[in-house]
Amino acid sequence: MTQVSETDAIVAGAGVWGCTVARTLADAGLRVLVLERRSAPGGNCRCRRDPESGAEVHVYGSHIFHTSDPKTWAFVNRFTAFNGYQHKVLARHAGRTYFMPLGLALVNAFFGKELAPAEVPAFIAAETASAGLPGTPRNFEEQAVSFVGRRIYEAFIKNYTAKQWGRDPKELDASIIRRLPVRASYDVNYFSDVLQGIPRWGYNALFDEMLSHPNIDLRTGVDFLKERPKLPAGKHVFYSGPVDELLGWRFGPLPWRTLRFELENAPVADWQGTSVVNYVDADVPYTRIHEFKHFHPEDAETMARPCTTICREYPATWKPGDEPYYPVNDAASAALLGEYRAAAAREFPDVTVGGRLGGYRYLDMDKSMTDAIATAEAFLKKLRNA
Ligand SMILES: Cc1cc2nc3c(=O)[nH]c(=O)nc-3n(C[C@H](O)[C@H](O)[C@H](O)COP(=O)(O)OP(=O)(O)OC[C@H]3O[C@@H](n4cnc5c(N)ncnc54)[C@H](O)[C@@H]3O)c2cc1C
Repeated sequence: MTQVSETDAIVAGAGVWGCTVARTLADAGLRVLVLERRSAPGGNCRCRRDPESGAEVHVYGSHIFHTSDPKTWAFVNRFTAFNGYQHKVLARHAGRTYFMPLGLALVNAFFGKELAPAEVPAFIAAETASAGLPGTPRNFEEQAVSFVGRRIYEAFIKNYTAKQWGRDPKELDASIIRRLPVRASYDVNYFSDVLQGIPRWGYNALFDEMLSHPNIDLRTGVDFLKERPKLPAGKHVFYSGPVDELLGWRFGPLPWRTLRFELENAPVADWQGTSVVNYVDADVPYTRIHEFKHFHPEDAETMARPCTTICREYPATWKPGDEPYYPVNDAASAALLGEYRAAAAREFPDVTVGGRLGGYRYLDMDKSMTDAIATAEAFLKKLRNA
């Protein structure tokens, strides 16, 4: 294990991004000190096993690994096998359950039709043409209606979006929604990425394995920002904490949406028959119910237990001190982010800021990993050329 005084680089934050940077540098022979302020690595992918139901509970919301990038898939498969889980999402509307995403299964069930794939584009075109929209969509609602028509929008998108963002979709920017395709098929796979699954032995084991390297020294319960004065000078830092916190929130906090998770153990083997159901109506205060055991259908013992852990997810307004989940991307936050980025580049030339908190952006796990590999490789190249 490497000692602090022998460190070549410091990684602050042991989420996907930090662990990937650390492992890539360690594989290249560098000695890396990893500081994580929580009690364990994994960031928001961290899980815990419920002793009663046996389910792997995704503490910060359900996480499904999916990618179309073979290099990233090969990288993550060095540390775990995947269980072949393919993600499907259902939506509960007006007392009935539909298959998401928007596709033939949902359209035919919702409209009571038997459309063939070739009939879908004309059907959706007629829906949007009858919506009475202005030429250029002025907000999220008009943009969404221009893609799918008013009836699908009102039933499946409007209220879910309002709950998610705490705002009327008419007040949200049209740019939030760039595409909203309706699949002309019965493919109900939620993600279009073919490479997907859940780590066979759980997310925690994946991160433990990534950091299990003689060149990596992991210290948990250590806040980099507080520890910084004691750290060896002149070492490059890869920081994946919040960028505004790095600069002492001096321009004010960047805005986020947070989530509240309400967990319950139900005394049945199977509560909803699937892992995730979206609740898209306004009269239900939560957006989703997760039932974790369904992420591991291969685990026959847990599947059969007469107990299951479910989780209701409630979006909420974020305030400093809350867990930040989704960045609120609008013109004001873009301007604030620009100020923080400029200040960080000016004042911390030896700090690379990355990840979802550092970048103030929503990043899927694979994108975070891909970005971290590229960041670490660019650093190694610079070292070699120095
Ligand atoms: C509700 C929800 C569901 C999601 N579901 C999926 C999904 O199904 N599939 C998918 O691919 N992606 C999903 N994601 C995205 C996924 O969570 C991110 O890609 C991933 O967390 C990004 O990793 P990260 O390392 O950038 O950030 P994080 O996971 O947030 O890790 C950052 C780490 O840095 C630590 N840290 C911060 N500041 C300091 C400091 N000063 N000192 C020391 N440590 C510090 C934090 O404690 C944390 O452990 C989801 C995100 C959300 C919000």
